[in-house]
Amino acid sequence: MPEESLSGKEKKIFAETDKNPSNILPTKLTLDSHLKFECHPGVSCFTACCHNIKIVLTPYDILILRKSLGIPAHEFITEYTQPTYLEKTDMPGVQIKLREDTGGCPFVTPEGCTVYPDRPSACRYYPVGMADFHEGGTNDAEEEKFFFIVKEPHCKGFEEDKEWTVREWRADQGVDVRDEMNKEGLRLVMRRKSFGHQASMSEAAKRMFFMASTDLDSFRNFIFESSFLETYEIDEKTLEEIREDDEALMHFSFRYLAHTLFGAKGMRIRKEKIEEKVKEIKERQDEALKKAEQEYLELKAARDRMLKEREGKEV
Ligand code: SF4
Ligand code: SF4
Repeated sequence: MPEESLSGKEKKIFAETDKNPSNILPTKLTLDSHLKFECHPGVSCFTACCHNIKIVLTPYDILILRKSLGIPAHEFITEYTQPTYLEKTDMPGVQIKLREDTGGCPFVTPEGCTVYPDRPSACRYYPVGMADFHEGGTNDAEEEKFFFIVKEPHCKGFEEDKEWTVREWRADQGVDVRDEMNKEGLRLVMRRKSFGHQASMSEAAKRMFFMASTDLDSFRNFIFESSFLETYEIDEKTLEEIREDDEALMHFSFRYLAHTLFGAKGMRIRKEKIEEKVKEIKERQDEALKKAEQEYLELKAARDRMLKEREGKEV
């Protein structure tokens, strides 16, 4: 794809994000496009961008950061994050809680980021953004994606001499791996977003989404210690994987959420549960029918009484 300017529709989409569109350079880039940029402790603005910033965490970010800090998910969530909504939907998520005194990220020091190898996805993208016009990355067709540069006015990294292709930059920052890990979660948010404001999520659905996407320990307890396995048929291999492997559990949580929130395929409900549900619905329908019949008979009797009374008067 040759480099070209952003279309009106594309500019509008950027304007709907949390990013300031005026910081986006209006040129489409490909993986082979070049950029000149370097960030290192020698730049005069070093760590400036780790202050007064909104860093929304993905489920994979939370998993990696809490492992890096050696603490359980619930402790990480309480200590280092605050609630937010994802992509202007009613889906609850978390963002990094900045320090009250400095407005800085809790992981920044004058020497740099203390969790650098495990830093969140959002910290890896700057200054190369990616637009994917297939909703939530539902199709990997390369022609639907393009890249662009975000240039914060205070950022001196653009004055450095180091040159990269977009491909090299993304590989260096570990962005490709993050994109892969984040795409199913992003797809859920984009699906929700596509419903607009006409439909809202129930409180129970929000609680489930929050638990499954921020606290995999609790989600694992939910699977193995509630009636979950009496409802869903999960094969032994998957059960073995999700019992031990957090990444496998995260992918499973995306599958479960897609099923429970949007009715997506990929989860099998036990036959006896379906039969139970059908029986319950039928019983409810039978009861409703009986009640309607009863009401009809009572109305008819009242009308007959009324007619008889009228006939009596006329005779
Ligand atoms: S503002 Fe730019 S150069 Fe400065 S620390 Fe942030 S990314 Fe690096
Ligand atoms: S996690 Fe690291 S890179 Fe990201 S804002 Fe905090 S200190 Fe900066």
